[in-house]
Amino acid sequence: MDHDDLRHWSKRAADWAHDYHRELRDRPVRAPLVPGAVAAHLPASPPDGAEPMERIWDDFTRIVPPGMTHWQHPRFFAYFPANAAPASMLAEQLANAIAAQGMIWQTSPAVTEIETVMIDWLRQALGLAEGFRGTIHDSATTATLSAVLTMREAALGFEGLSKGLSGGPVLRLYASAETHSSVDKAARLSGIGQDNLVKIATDGRNAMKPGALADAIRADLDAGLKPAGVILCAGGTSVGAFDRIADSIEVARTFGLPVHVDAAWAGSAMICPEFRALWEGIDGADSIVFNPHKWLGAQFDCAVQFLRDPGPQIRTLGLRPVYLETAGQEEITNYNEWTVPLGRRFRALKLWFLMRAYGLEGLRARIRNHVAWAGELRDALAALPGVEIVTEPSLSLFTFALPTEEATADLLARINDDGRVYLTQTRHRGRYVIRVQVGQFDCTREDVICVAEVIGDLL
Ligand SMILES: *Cc1c(COP(=O)(O)O)cnc(C)c1O
Repeated sequence: MDHDDLRHWSKRAADWAHDYHRELRDRPVRAPLVPGAVAAHLPASPPDGAEPMERIWDDFTRIVPPGMTHWQHPRFFAYFPANAAPASMLAEQLANAIAAQGMIWQTSPAVTEIETVMIDWLRQALGLAEGFRGTIHDSATTATLSAVLTMREAALGFEGLSKGLSGGPVLRLYASAETHSSVDKAARLSGIGQDNLVKIATDGRNAMKPGALADAIRADLDAGLKPAGVILCAGGTSVGAFDRIADSIEVARTFGLPVHVDAAWAGSAMICPEFRALWEGIDGADSIVFNPHKWLGAQFDCAVQFLRDPGPQIRTLGLRPVYLETAGQEEITNYNEWTVPLGRRFRALKLWFLMRAYGLEGLRARIRNHVAWAGELRDALAALPGVEIVTEPSLSLFTFALPTEEATADLLARINDDGRVYLTQTRHRGRYVIRVQVGQFDCTREDVICVAEVIGDLL
């Protein structure tokens, strides 16, 4: 295959993609397969000779779509969305066509400079204070790991990087019990250790208790341990919990601790000023992560981390060997120095296309609809016999259950076997519940109300 062939097949792929998206509503949302069903279609060994593209294409259309869970399906209400707005998909196509590696400024100035401007556009869109800078990571997990590694090094006077961790003080991190497992992973991978991530109790609204945070830090100090930082939750994955950001940051400040806020899902909603009360005090954070690849519409992957002062993170993660220097440009921004991997995709292009093609008003209108429709759906489900709303909507996420765990799990299995909609589960305060999040880029009110129809049919 050469670039002339690529042109031919790209056009075919564009037509295929159009049909795929047009007919998406008629497919079962979740792949109705058992493990091994897809692999059984593939030969065990690679081909020695070249195969005709026609045959590869046929296998793709035969094997792959039925083996997919359709994340762009308008009736996907599971997990959180991974929206790919058409304009962002177009930008991804163009970035793929150029296929650059944007590890330093010199390796593609447009990759770095558009990223810098897009971070500032997003800062303004979210209503964050001037002065926040930032970068784009592959995932919120990487951003949170970067923030925690920076907390570790700041606590160690940046000596862990050279001396390692053995013999040093025992570092401690603090987070609410509602934070995502990526915080646990960061504690593990940073060498701080899971046992040194202190999960602070939450109140009736699922927010970390600032008083309990202060008590935990004080107890650790008394025991001779070294607090390193606090991770707050702005829109938890399980039930959408929000910590009291301003109060919690005030506690952290009292002890001189840096604060990272995980707003991976809910950050997108902050383009709407009316939701910003949920993370009031956010300008006091040192680091904030949010995923435009979730609710906003930037095709996966695109996780944005805002930093009040990028200095400590660059000092922690940045290396500039001679072969990565740009002659005469010591002050240049090289975003690989802000994150874990060296290689970087051109992710800013899709943000540029996304914000321009829909405008912030177009993006806000979608999020407002999702929140309003989630409220309607909550009421429709509450009216069904035996259904109990367990957690009220946090933005567009709520949970419900039937009277017993067995009945709830059985209902969820039947909903997903039915295929018209897709929901997933969580456990809240010991109770097995079904989550509903509304956030698909092109879903309609009818798609959302369909959840109540399906459940009404199955009860
Ligand atoms: C999705 C999510 C994450 C992890 O996101 P990745 O980008 O997949 O690593 C972390 N925190 C919260 C609150 C999330 O919703």
